[in-house]
Amino acid sequence: MNRLMLNICAGTFAAGAILTPAWAEAAQTDPVAVAAAGRADAKYLDYPVYRGDDLGLTLRDGRADFRLWAPSAKAVKLNLYDQGRYGAPYRTIEMTPSEAGTWTASVTPAPMGKFYTFQVNVDGKWLAETPGIYNRAAGVNGMRAAVVDLAATNPQGWADDRGPALKNINDAVLYEMHHRDFSIHPSSGIANKGKFLAMVENGTVNPEGDATGIDHLKELGVTHVHILPSYDYNSVDEANLPANQYNWGYDPFNYNVPEGSYSTNPSDPQARIREFKQMVQALHKAGIGVVMDVVYNHTANNDDSNFSLTVPGYFYRHNADGSYSDASGCGNETASERQAVRDYIVNSVKYWAKEYHIDGFRFDLMAIHDTETMNEVARELKKINPSIFVYGEGWTAGGSPLPEANRALKVNVAKMNDIAVFSDDIRDAVKGHYSAAEQPGFATGAPGNEETVKIGIVASTAHPQVDYSKGNNAKAPYATSPKQIINYVSCHDDLCLTDKLALSMPGSIEADRQRAARLAQTIVFTSQGTPFMFAGEEVFRGKKLVHNTYKSPDSVNAIDWNLKHLNREQFEFYKELIALRKAHPAFRMTDAADIAKHLRFDNVKTSNLISYSLLDHANGDEWKEIKLVFNGADTPAEVKLPKGKWTVVSRDGRLCHTGLTDAEGNLQILPGGKTTVEPRSALILYR
Ligand code: CA
Repeated sequence: MNRLMLNICAGTFAAGAILTPAWAEAAQTDPVAVAAAGRADAKYLDYPVYRGDDLGLTLRDGRADFRLWAPSAKAVKLNLYDQGRYGAPYRTIEMTPSEAGTWTASVTPAPMGKFYTFQVNVDGKWLAETPGIYNRAAGVNGMRAAVVDLAATNPQGWADDRGPALKNINDAVLYEMHHRDFSIHPSSGIANKGKFLAMVENGTVNPEGDATGIDHLKELGVTHVHILPSYDYNSVDEANLPANQYNWGYDPFNYNVPEGSYSTNPSDPQARIREFKQMVQALHKAGIGVVMDVVYNHTANNDDSNFSLTVPGYFYRHNADGSYSDASGCGNETASERQAVRDYIVNSVKYWAKEYHIDGFRFDLMAIHDTETMNEVARELKKINPSIFVYGEGWTAGGSPLPEANRALKVNVAKMNDIAVFSDDIRDAVKGHYSAAEQPGFATGAPGNEETVKIGIVASTAHPQVDYSKGNNAKAPYATSPKQIINYVSCHDDLCLTDKLALSMPGSIEADRQRAARLAQTIVFTSQGTPFMFAGEEVFRGKKLVHNTYKSPDSVNAIDWNLKHLNREQFEFYKELIALRKAHPAFRMTDAADIAKHLRFDNVKTSNLISYSLLDHANGDEWKEIKLVFNGADTPAEVKLPKGKWTVVSRDGRLCHTGLTDAEGNLQILPGGKTTVEPRSALILYR
């Protein structure tokens, strides 16, 4: 297939779930083994790799220097155009073979504002035109690259722009959002709906006067937005924006160019670059960092991708019969173990970090990449800015020729010090399995998930009181540090939390489901590791029970901001929950040994009940002991508190990060002894 027909990058394929072909036993990363196995891929090992920093277009001394790495090419042409589409080239230049498989051409004076493509001849055949793979600017739909002075796209004050300083990843509170979901609904009150610039608008409100847009994020208190793919992707026709097409964007086309449909003018190559930077700058001014969702694991097209039109075959893995292997479930998978592919990924994230001041990267289907590549990504990014963090999906969506030992899998995270992985353990245990819509979880009354929730609470690290053999997914601790775990119960994939609760709590009223959502998120936000939430959950947004909304219309995906008024209490709860986490380092321990020492589970035998304490001013917390009791049953539970003076922080679906107060405004205090935990709620206390 040459066009992404179905985005199934949602799946969780456990390691070992897919049969690995016998020939793949020869490690693909070992050149000798690859050659010995008689693999067609072996030829790629002979390609010279260019390691210079001037691939693509370099503007200097009024000149435009082009360099394309195309080691299998017999000839390469550079076409110059007046426009981003239509018309014939006004000039075509034969490029000159240069060092390490590259081809060069220089144009004087630099054709500022013009467009260009490359055309590669392989085995006597001219391939279709491509904007290349290093272009940083493009015309509409990304078909032609553009000659742009990037410095001219910088908004005023850009040199002084800084993202939030972050000591550890688990000081972050991640908010996953899509540009259209967030601003497209009429109730957003935002002028630049569905655009990068939506984030630049201050003072926007819904019809009831509640803050929306960036003011909403400030009010909520999240530290980072995680924006769904915002590089130039394939599916939305940028030349026909009135069609209002929607797509998540997991179909990469130009990796180093912002998506045109999110700009106010996709035909102006500078607009998307400038507006992306304006968005980042506005968020940074609000103290909010920007995480990019990156999808280097596959491309939208196969034979006619920009990779294939430059160096056919090289960028992908293949099956023994020469066909594309498909660990992405989208038709192909890239080959990060090959030097030029690894360099490409590393250089691309470095570019986004430097040029766009990106604060973090979320790798889609990260386990398609090898651990060595991911470690290099993290290492190189930390050199640019130590606050940058990297996390990803520690799974693939299908079998891969890359041996499991080399994959950046969840279970291999111990081999990746500065990388975090999503915990599907806590996700599926708290709310029920992602693929079984009607299956409830711990927070919705299903027994048998207690131990897996505990695995989530300790961030999948080794803990003397957690019996991993009873885990639903992982059967052994896999993280060596809580900094390696992202906790969540919902994201863009699969049913969002609101819809999952609707289907797994039959006969329930909405108030019950909101209670369950509060409990589920309380577990996530108080657990060790880094919390992650899906945009709109704080106002209890649904997606009309659609599982895979990757191309569903705005009517399904848009957040209706009237919900912020209707579900104000829900919003206030999330706000307090985030404030609680940010105020208390006990929830943000950075060391597995600290967790083993300062987190103690109480011996509870009741189903759907977990009770634990964070002890002895854990991680320097001002509170000596924090007790958390989660009751996922629909009946009250009774627990016995040690004697003392316990201040109540959360009870019966209410939470105040400085402590709940009674009608007279006095802090609620419990003396110890027997106390009740209401159905589907958390009891949080401190002393
Ligand atoms: Ca596009």
